[in-house]
Amino acid sequence: MLIVQKYGGTSVGSFDRIRNVAGRIKSLREDGHQVAVVVSAMGGVTDKLVTMARELCDEPPEREMDVLLSTGEQQSIALVTMALRQLGVEAVSITGRQAGMKTSGSHTRARIEAIDPTLSRRYLGEGKVVIVAGFQGVNEEGLIQTLGRGGSDLSAIAFASSVRADLCQVLTDVDGVYTADPRVVRDARKLPEISYDELLELASVGTKVMQSRSVEFAKKYGVKFEVRSSLNNNPGTIVTEEHEAMEAVVIRGVSIERSQARVTITGIPDEPGMSALILGVLGEAEINIDMIISNTAHDGYARHSFTMHTNDLGRVQAALKPVLSDLGGEANLESEAGIAKLSVVGIGMRSHSGVAAQMFKALGEGGINIGMISTSEIKISVTVEEARIEDAARVVHSAFGLDTAPA
Ligand code: ADP
Ligand code: ASP
Ligand code: MG
Repeated sequence: MLIVQKYGGTSVGSFDRIRNVAGRIKSLREDGHQVAVVVSAMGGVTDKLVTMARELCDEPPEREMDVLLSTGEQQSIALVTMALRQLGVEAVSITGRQAGMKTSGSHTRARIEAIDPTLSRRYLGEGKVVIVAGFQGVNEEGLIQTLGRGGSDLSAIAFASSVRADLCQVLTDVDGVYTADPRVVRDARKLPEISYDELLELASVGTKVMQSRSVEFAKKYGVKFEVRSSLNNNPGTIVTEEHEAMEAVVIRGVSIERSQARVTITGIPDEPGMSALILGVLGEAEINIDMIISNTAHDGYARHSFTMHTNDLGRVQAALKPVLSDLGGEANLESEAGIAKLSVVGIGMRSHSGVAAQMFKALGEGGINIGMISTSEIKISVTVEEARIEDAARVVHSAFGLDTAPA
């Protein structure tokens, strides 16, 4: 079998952990498998590089950030390879460029366009284990680009797809995908399986066990993969196409997103083109906004609210200020920080009614006030005061029986 594995930052976070990874890879080789491994930077290294950049520059140029951040993975691939050689395993490290990772789009959040696996195939054919730097690639101009935080997940899924791996495993510091972050909800349970759509929705609202774009890629190219622990041999979570039995579960998981802020613009003339004007400037400024709620006009004026990460609040305010005058004399901007978002996700929601009511009732009974609400076909999100987000997650997790029901 050709196995592609990915080890995240914690899994290669110390010399002992690196030796552990090398030992695991060695046993796969001894079982006769071809192995390619995508690795992240050692835990904390990428954050440290970001801090270093900010020491010297208020707004570090993104091109240079990519040059800097990609060094984290360059260290870890060499170290993992050395640990393997120490165990007598033939292994070579390759950077994103050498692995043929072709990227496009903006620096620090590039997309993988294509992968040319020629060199990787050659090494694999020679019986070597290939250790690939995650999180990085090069664009058409030959410039180094990174794939957004957590981007090694995407490198691994895309790599597995390009070499047509028989098995793709994402190894991390938890046993799989849980019904909620096990660090927050102690009674969270590991899910034996989850559909692409559910994991994609969860990842896009804060479940960082997989980067959301990696799940999107896996869905698009049909890459079935498993999330499991690098520290034990427990079975993990299979991420796959949905099948009928999955719809019986109404809520698959609960997710939280902290450090959110809300901006509300009031006094917007009730005329065509106003929303496009507001959202257009935010789009141009490349700011991701999230929940968008617009209220029906009252006395000829409408209001729009949306949420974003607190780090983006200043940029949103700055981008919208000039627009206020274009909206006329009544327009006003209010903002609020210190909120968080709680979401429940499940494909079973499509065929079950009353799910939102059940969620709101649980929050009400827990004395937790709901701010904004938004829903999609398989997700319900609400904002709550940030100080109450963990209580909110636990209350809702238990209201849907996620701590007890078999998955
Ligand atoms: P890696 O370094 O391996 O990429 P991450 O730190 O990115 O690992 O992701 C693993 C972490 O994701 C876990 O330690 C866990 O706290 C967090 N997490 C959040 N939500 C979930 C969930 N629903 N299931 C499992 N882990 C979750
Ligand atoms: N090292 C990168 C990060 O910390 C990529 C990854 O770990 O997936 O975001
Ligand atoms: Mg990660």
